Amino acid sequence: MQSCSRRLMTYLSQKIGFAIHRRYFCDKAKTTLKGNANILLKQIEARILAGGPITVAEYMKEVLTNPTAGYYMNRDVFGQTGDFITSPEISQMFGELIAVWLVNEWTKCGRPTPFQIAELGPGRGTLMADILRVFSKFKIAGSDFSVSLVEVSPYLAQVQEKQLGPRQAQEATKLPQGSQHYKQSISFYGSQVRWYNHIADLPRTFTLFLAHEFFDALPIHKLVKVDQGWREVLIDLNREDLTLRFVISRDRTPACLYRLDNESREELEVSPQSLIITQAMAARIHQDGGIGLVIDYGHEGDKTDTFRGFKNHKLHDPLVDPGTADLTADVDFSALKWAATHPRTFEDWKANLTFGTVDQKDFLTRVGINLRLEQLLASCRDEDVALNLKSAHKMLTDPMEMGSKFKFLALYPSVMEKILERYPPPGFV
Ligand code: SAH
Repeated sequence: MQSCSRRLMTYLSQKIGFAIHRRYFCDKAKTTLKGNANILLKQIEARILAGGPITVAEYMKEVLTNPTAGYYMNRDVFGQTGDFITSPEISQMFGELIAVWLVNEWTKCGRPTPFQIAELGPGRGTLMADILRVFSKFKIAGSDFSVSLVEVSPYLAQVQEKQLGPRQAQEATKLPQGSQHYKQSISFYGSQVRWYNHIADLPRTFTLFLAHEFFDALPIHKLVKVDQGWREVLIDLNREDLTLRFVISRDRTPACLYRLDNESREELEVSPQSLIITQAMAARIHQDGGIGLVIDYGHEGDKTDTFRGFKNHKLHDPLVDPGTADLTADVDFSALKWAATHPRTFEDWKANLTFGTVDQKDFLTRVGINLRLEQLLASCRDEDVALNLKSAHKMLTDPMEMGSKFKFLALYPSVMEKILERYPPPGFV
């Protein structure tokens, strides 16, 4: 059965065509820092002075998504000129293979239409652009599906708008009253594209969910075990030099409830927002049908202290110059799997099936990245482009680069159990 799905993937990936659409690291956008990070520091200082130390989650939320000066809110942070580079930005091969995987799994579900493809945290929209191009090669009509983007940053929503469609989007003021989305447009291939603030606002229909490097940007709480039991690591102001510093809470805080009773670690990170979003995705998958694919760097509930900053591709102290560097924490995939399989008592959905995590190198190799590289190299006449392709392939799959650090997790509704026993998801076996 396994080789059957592999054969199918090989067949499907041959249909994509051989054109090279983007050069690896081809980076035109310049990063401009419009937000005044100092404003952010002043606001955080004022908040601590007024109410005492804040949680790491409050700090992360403020630094990343403060409407005026948040890190993501008013600039392009990706690529060589930004602070970090992500897999879809490295090579078109990444998005193309994800697209083929989605077509394969959607076909397994009986090709229900209309459906929506929903991406959480789409960044520059590069992954979605590669997916839409492949969908069009498979002759999936633009009218058969809509694109839903959950994006907090108005600036990045504009970048996505240019990347995905020829026309200027309609902004909130022009949309019918009561619209759940804040912006809408039409893609190059004719499908509706809509932007949402929250996963809960998405239309109720069969959904292919995607989240690439989204969960690592969501706020985490840091917990630590001390002699008196579990306490929370908070952020306080050093009154002498007005710098920020970590302190330990005097008493238990609400976040301490999120650790498991049999926890063996002495220090850990929990992300209630990630759990809520995963539960929302799982509920939709159960109630309306769909599949979820989550890709991120992370662990299976065994890491302790992963909260860090990134600036100009280098590690950066997360408490220094807030708003000028990305803040991130490794995703606890064991917690996401728990959330996908544990409905809250008042909710009407059953545990979903989860597959993975598997390492990026295994997923991409199993779904045919080597074959795709060969195809692109065969049609490539430019030596530099060929070198770029090879180097992108290495970066995506080498265990010393992104191959082992990044993991893939898939969610399916429980009704698909029998089908998946016969035809397990490619890339995961
Ligand atoms: N998926 C893209 C970008 C990853 S960066 C890629 O891999 O290239 C994280 C993305 O999530 C950005 O688009 C950021 O603006 C968005 N984001 C961060 N926090 C968010 C939140 N709470 N709600 C919605 N989007 C968020």
